[in-house]
This record gives sequence, C-alpha cells and structure tokens, in this order.
Amino acid sequence: MFIDDHFGCETAADYSQQVLRTDVAGMPLEWIDYRDAVRLYHTEQVAYACGSLLYRIHGGINARTGNRSIVEVNSIIATVGHTPGGAERRNRYEPPLNNKTLFKRDANLCMYCGVRFLSREMTRDHIRPLSQGGTDDWRNVVTACRRCNNHKGGRTPEQAHMQLIAIPFTPNYAEYIYLKGRRVLADQMEFLMAHIPRTSPLRHRLSLSIQEMAPAL
Ligand SMILES: [Zn+2]
Repeated sequence: MFIDDHFGCETAADYSQQVLRTDVAGMPLEWIDYRDAVRLYHTEQVAYACGSLLYRIHGGINARTGNRSIVEVNSIIATVGHTPGGAERRNRYEPPLNNKTLFKRDANLCMYCGVRFLSREMTRDHIRPLSQGGTDDWRNVVTACRRCNNHKGGRTPEQAHMQLIAIPFTPNYAEYIYLKGRRVLADQMEFLMAHIPRTSPLRHRLSLSIQEMAPAL
C-alpha cells in the first residue's frame, strides 16, 4: 500500500491528518489514521463518506483483473455496525480526565487570571483541594498557571480570595472527541458541532479563541 496523492495537507509527506469515524447514524465515534480507514474500506465497513477527500491510496494489484485498487479516504467516514450500549451509553459517558484534554477544554487559559499559556506552563488545579476532600474529576478541576496554582496552595478559591473566570464542566462524548483531536479540520469541526449542545460552554470558548486568533484590524 502506498500513497499516491493527498489533499488538504500542507506538505506531501504529511499523512498525519486524522479521519473522524462515525457510526451509520452519523454519531462521532473516534479519530483514526489513514491506515485504519483503508482497513475499514477493505473490510467493507464503510457505509458512506462525508467531508473532504484527504488521501488517495493505492493498494495491491488484483490477481484476476490486473487492476490496482485505489481507496479514497475522506475526512469523515461513517461505518456500519454499532457500539454496544449505543446512544444510551454515550449519554452517560464520563470521559477519562487527562491534562491534555483538560487544558484544551479551558482553551489553555488559566481559569483564575485569564491569561493564555503554553501547555507545558499549565497545571491541573483541584478547585476543592484533594486535602480538603475534593475529587479528581472534570467538575472539580481547572487549568491554572503555576503562579495562580502556587498562590492558591491547599485552599479553596473562597479561602484564597480567588475567583474562577468560568465554571468547569464534564465534556460530553462529541466534545471529548473534539478535545482529543490533534488538528481538527473545518468540516470535521462542523460535524462535531452538530453533536455539541447549544448551551455548551465549549461553544463559547471556541468562539472566543477564534476571535482572538483573527488578525487585529
Ligand atoms: Zn493564572
């Protein structure tokens, strides 16, 4: 198997763009790489494709016809079959907590001073400290810069006279898939957005980051 062309990437050597896999009803499931996508095509598990064409991949030569197979991989592919538990399980889903997705949830902003930092300069703050019975879950943790986290120490925000700039929340399934994405394409983002509630704080944070990224007039 080798790659002949690719689309929508910056350099010819870039095959790292992830593909969004959904179930047949269009519910986002996971990120896969182009190899997984080709495997799904070969095993006839792809029901339909959406989004844009990412890669055109040449497979082996068919012994009978002498033709080389070509698989076109799109940015979003819907696959047959369903995950055990389905929608009900996803509704109750509590994603695992890790710093990478936590920092992305909070748009890399310190939730105390509101300043944006690089991931390596951020920390996980327990709003109610573990030493005071706080838990290590999405609703009790926020992104904090080292300075604010040190200043807060083993205190609650009230005890430290500090204020959170936003309320922490547990991402739903689609939000968590977005947070896990390395580089989410516009069409994939649009697709995921359809599964992110209108009231989600993530929508607000995303629109803020887009505004901030826009060039100054
Ligand atoms: Zn801070």
